[in-house]
Amino acid sequence: MREIILGVGLVIEIALIITTIFIMSSHLRRNSRNNTNIQLNEQYYKSLFEENPDAIFIFDLNGNFLVANKAVSLYGYTAEELINKPFTGYILPKDLEKVMAHFFQAVEGSSSNCDCSILDKEGLQREISVTNIPIFVNQEIHGVYTIIKDITEHKKAQNDLVEAEAKYRSLIENSLVGVYIMQDGKLVYVNPRLCEMSGYHCEELLGLHVKEFIYPEDLPLVTENIRKRFNNEIDTMKFEYRAIRKDRSVITFELYGSKIVYNGRDAIIGTVIDITERKNTEKIIRHMAYHDQLTDLPNRYLLREKLNEAIIESRQNNCHFALLFLDLDRFKAINDTLGHEVGDKVLMEVAERLKACVTQTDIISRYGGDEFSVLLPEAGEQRASQVAHQIITKLSLPLTFLHHELLVTPSIGISIFPTHGESFDMLIKNGDLAMYHAKSLGRNNYQFFNEELNKKAKHELDMELNLRKALEQNQLVLFYQPQVNLETNQIYGAEALMRWIHPEKGIIPPASFIPLAEENGLIIPMGEWAIRTACQENKKWQLAGYSPVTVSVNISAKQFFQSNLVEIVESALSETELNPKYLELEITESITMDVERSITTLLELQRIGVKVSIDDFGIGYSSLNYLKRLPIDKLKIDQSFIRECPNDINSNTLVRTIIIMAHLLKMKVIAEGVETEEQVSFLLAQGCNEAQGYLFGKPLPMSEFETNYLQKRLEK
Ligand code: C2E
Ligand code: MG
Ligand code: MG
Repeated sequence: MREIILGVGLVIEIALIITTIFIMSSHLRRNSRNNTNIQLNEQYYKSLFEENPDAIFIFDLNGNFLVANKAVSLYGYTAEELINKPFTGYILPKDLEKVMAHFFQAVEGSSSNCDCSILDKEGLQREISVTNIPIFVNQEIHGVYTIIKDITEHKKAQNDLVEAEAKYRSLIENSLVGVYIMQDGKLVYVNPRLCEMSGYHCEELLGLHVKEFIYPEDLPLVTENIRKRFNNEIDTMKFEYRAIRKDRSVITFELYGSKIVYNGRDAIIGTVIDITERKNTEKIIRHMAYHDQLTDLPNRYLLREKLNEAIIESRQNNCHFALLFLDLDRFKAINDTLGHEVGDKVLMEVAERLKACVTQTDIISRYGGDEFSVLLPEAGEQRASQVAHQIITKLSLPLTFLHHELLVTPSIGISIFPTHGESFDMLIKNGDLAMYHAKSLGRNNYQFFNEELNKKAKHELDMELNLRKALEQNQLVLFYQPQVNLETNQIYGAEALMRWIHPEKGIIPPASFIPLAEENGLIIPMGEWAIRTACQENKKWQLAGYSPVTVSVNISAKQFFQSNLVEIVESALSETELNPKYLELEITESITMDVERSITTLLELQRIGVKVSIDDFGIGYSSLNYLKRLPIDKLKIDQSFIRECPNDINSNTLVRTIIIMAHLLKMKVIAEGVETEEQVSFLLAQGCNEAQGYLFGKPLPMSEFETNYLQKRLEK
């Protein structure tokens, strides 16, 4: 039994043992499974902790480092050197309070996050984002997990962005140019300068539609350009528009625009510069460049533009137009005698009178000096004649300035497009030719251009070339015409008169080439040649033993006013060793146009002992007043008066008056163009005792004058 009991007990024990073993083994099995799970979890968390690219720390509740992961090396530290140290030593003072507050928030059980600056091991400032997480163990807080992220770069980028934004904002806000952003035709951003420009407050300007401030005429263009800008159809960046300010004044501005995305939608951003002043200045400059300052009439540059436009239009419409080219007769004399101030007033008055002769569409311009032109669009010969006639009538009315009554008449040349020229230059040139023709016909009239004038001009050009050659090739000679003492009937002198011995045309009289030479300036070298030749030939006669005669040489006004006339005379005299008393210079009344200069030259001539006479006296305009002041030896009464003597009472009176006047002024008198004995008797009776004319002899070549007069005088 005992054995049974023992056996049962053993079985029970064995069963117990087995059960225990089973329980134990299953418990152990369960335990080991639990252990494996814990280990696995630990591995997971360890990896999350160790391998985290962000530095992770565990702090005790006082903020001392307990554990740190590998990423702490990012800041130059090792975990070991941080252990048991408080984090406060690594935070920049500026952030310490904040960071501590956040830390203790975690100690209190709530996670928190903040940014702060720390110093890394090398002492460099690093920006970090700190996340504090409380560590709960059995509902109790055992410490704090802290994850730190390096946000230095991010912070820097953010700062840069803020700085850049601030920089650009201040640039735009303080910009001297207006800046705008526009969406749907409305302003959605404006800077202060733009407000200032527009005269609106910024709040008023914001939301304003282009329709409300763009100048109505420019609006279609603005709208179209905005559309094109949005559709990327536009290359141009710069535009010029006008806008209406709040005070309703108009400004012109220059605008740049480009497409951007603003608040998620397409917009145009751009700048605006107020160019009103620049535009006004440009306008003034353009006006100045294209207008004459004195009369404010268009000048020749604007005339060129207008005339070219007229050419294009007339071609298109197959019609014509007229150009009147106008020159004031003897204006130079007014300027020279009465001064430029009076001259200017005359020009201004002429401009006014011209305006009264034309319509709004006609264009008057001051071409230069005393030349004006009138462009008559769509006008033919008939209207051109009418206007020219009217101008002549209007301008011929006397002008009164400074107690001087002046007569300013015009000579007008007319060219018609396309008959007389198809270009600006041709029309001007031909109008000018026609004008000269009008002048040659006695001034104060108008002439149309014709081909003959061209031929004449060409002929004159040829003449000029030939005349230059004549001077170089010694084709010029002096003829001598005797001058006689009427009482003694003795030759006392001769007038030297120039002739051109042309190789083909023979002898050409001075009237055919002197005026041309005066015009083109050749008269200066020709005149010098005449002085030298007259001195030489006269001296030659003296050396040949003839009793000395005075030779008078004609001096044109241009030559007289030449600065070195006195020098030329002096050198001719010294080179030929002719006594100055045998040289006389014949000048014309036109020298009175510059009395002061004339007096200086005449006194110089008087000083060197040369005589001076006034040629063709009576036909000019010299006033007695001037005559009295000029040191002159002799007056030569113009042949037109002598021609009429003694049959014409008026001429007789004139001649008599000149003689009396000359004697009163202690001047000698010589009568020119004496052809009859009656004239001699008349002149003698009036007290004139010197004469020159065909009656005594025609101008002869040097050798003939010598044989005909000098030799004969010797023989007597
Ligand atoms: P002028 O100085 O008045 O010369 C007088 C002109 O009248 C000369 O004409 C002469 O031939 C002409 N003549 C003289 N007596 C009579 C007469 O009884 N009846 C008529 N019908 N005519 C007479 P010429 O030689 O043809 O000279 C014309 C003008 O050319 C001169 O007028 C003078 O102004 C100018 N001239 C001549 N030679 C020169 C010169 O060397 N230099 C300059 N600057 N002008 C000159
Ligand atoms: Mg003369
Ligand atoms: Mg004369």
